[in-house]
Amino acid sequence: MQNITLLGSTGSIGESTLNILSQHPDRYRVYALTAYRSVDLLFQQCVRFEPDIAVMLDEQAAEQLKDKLKISGISTEVLSGELALQQVAQEKKVDYVVAAIVGAAGLLPTLAAARAGKHILLANKEALVMSGHLFMSEVETYGATLLPVDSEHNAIWQCLPIGSKQQYHFDGKGIRRIILTASGGPFRDYDLSQLESVTPEQAIAHPNWSMGQKISVDSATMMNKGLEVIEAHWLFGLANEQIDVVLHRQSVIHSMVDYVDGSVLAQMGNPDMRTPIANALAWPERISSGVKPLDLIGVGRLDFDKACHDRFPCLALAYQALQAGGTSTAILNAANEVAVEAFLANRIKFTGIAKIIDNALSAITASDGLNLEQVLEDDMKAREFAMSLIN
Ligand code: NDP
Ligand code: MG
Repeated sequence: MQNITLLGSTGSIGESTLNILSQHPDRYRVYALTAYRSVDLLFQQCVRFEPDIAVMLDEQAAEQLKDKLKISGISTEVLSGELALQQVAQEKKVDYVVAAIVGAAGLLPTLAAARAGKHILLANKEALVMSGHLFMSEVETYGATLLPVDSEHNAIWQCLPIGSKQQYHFDGKGIRRIILTASGGPFRDYDLSQLESVTPEQAIAHPNWSMGQKISVDSATMMNKGLEVIEAHWLFGLANEQIDVVLHRQSVIHSMVDYVDGSVLAQMGNPDMRTPIANALAWPERISSGVKPLDLIGVGRLDFDKACHDRFPCLALAYQALQAGGTSTAILNAANEVAVEAFLANRIKFTGIAKIIDNALSAITASDGLNLEQVLEDDMKAREFAMSLIN
C-alpha cells in the first residue's frame, strides 16, 4: 500500500489522479489532499477519500472546511498555510507526492518532497522551469525519484532506454533528439491578424484536452510547449538543440525519441491525462486507468506541421531564456504567470502576453540561479516588472 500526498487535488490533474486512485484502492491510500480555496470540492474529496490531513492555503477556507467536516463526522485534520503544504509533502509516512499545484506556488512544496527523498509525480512543470538546476541537484542529493506526469515527458520517458533501473541516469548515447508534439491550441488555424482580438473564453477552449485555465492559455500561446522544452532539458539532461517541437493536431502521439540509427519511437494514446498519471504511479508496472482504447481507424490520420515562431512568439522566448540560462527561465515563467492572469481578467490583449515576457527578459538581469533565494528574488522582480507594465 502506497501513501499519497496529492498537492493541488481540486485541479484538473488532481481530479484525474483521484479518479485513478479510486480504481485501485488496494494499492493506494490518500494521506493528504491540498487546495488553495476550493472548499466545497475539497470537502467532497475528503468525504470520499478520508485523508489523514487536508490543507487549504487560505486560512478562512480552512476554517470553513473544518466546520463542514466536523458536522459530517469526518476525522480528517485540517491545516492551512504554505508551511503546511511543505509539511504534508515531506511527511515520513508518505511514499508518493503528486505535484499538481499550478504555477510558482508549487515550487516550495515540491522541493520539500525532493528533499525528503520522495517519489515525485511531477505535473507542476513551473517548479522545474524556475529552478531546474537546483531542483535536479536536490533530487539527486536526497535520492528522490522524479516521475514525469506531463504527457509529453511521460511519453519520452516511456520511449527512453531507462527500463526498470534508476531514473534518468541513462547516458543519452544513441539519442539524436526528442520531438515534443503540440496540438497548436485553439488558434492554430486563425489568421495572425485575428489573434489581437481573441477572448479568454476562446483561449481556454482547448480543442483536444480539458485542463485548468492557466495551462489552457499557455497552450493557446504555446508558452506551454516552451515551458515543456525547458522541463525536458532538465529532466532528460539534453542539450537545447536536441529538443524539437512539431505541431500535431490530433494529440495522439504524445512525443517521440529519435535515435541515431534512424529509429523514431513514439508513445500514442487518447488525449487523457489519466494515462501518464497511471503510468507514473505504477511504474515500472502498468495499471488500468479507465482511458478508452485508441481507435486508430477513428483517428484516421496523423498530421505534422512546423511550429512557426511568428504565430507562437512565446515558444521562441522560451528557447531564448533556456539559452540565456540561470534565472532567465524563472523570469520568463513569472512574467508569463502575471501576463496570463491579466489576460484572463481582460486587462491585456492575448498578443500582449508575449510582449510583456519579452520586455521582462530584456529588462531584468538574470543571476546564475544556483540557490533558492536568487530564484525567488528574480521571480519577484519579474512579477513586479510585469505588473508595472500592465498597470
Ligand atoms: P488547475 O488550475 O486545474 O488546478 C490547480 C490546483 O492548484 C488546484 O488544486 C488549486 O486549488 C491549487 N492551487 C492554485 N493556486 C495555489 C496556490 N497559490 N497555492 C496552493 N495551491 C494552489 O491546474 P491543472 O490541474 O490544470 O494544472 C496543475 C499543474 O499541472 C500545472 O503546473 C500544469 O502546468 C500541469 N499540467 C497540467 C495538465 C492538465 O492536463 N491539466 C497537463 C500537464 C501538466 P483551488 O482549486 O483551491 O484553486
Ligand atoms: Mg504537456
